[in-house]
Amino acid sequence: MENITCITCGMPLTGDHAADFGMQAPDGAVCKFDSENGQIKSSEVIFEGGVHFFAEACADGDRVLAERLTRKNMKSLPYWQRHPFALLDGEEASEEEFAAAMAKM
Ligand SMILES: [Zn+2]
Repeated sequence: MENITCITCGMPLTGDHAADFGMQAPDGAVCKFDSENGQIKSSEVIFEGGVHFFAEACADGDRVLAERLTRKNMKSLPYWQRHPFALLDGEEASEEEFAAAMAKM
């Protein structure tokens, strides 16, 4: 089976995560958290959603670390490399920090 992930946050959308599928965009699949009424949410809203997710999932509420993890994650995705926006300009988590955060999930 093809491994489908969300183009705007990278989360898996197959298997146990099939119910998180939101919409099919021209660029690929988008999760239900990053889309609304058949539209991809604004870059800023998706960024903020990522910060909340990382803060709760693996940064113990540390907002600054969560922002850096969100930048690291989003900048790794081809969609945001094609559609950069201002909030992505800033400090990114290191490979080690990102790996440590992933291990906590
Ligand atoms: Zn997503």
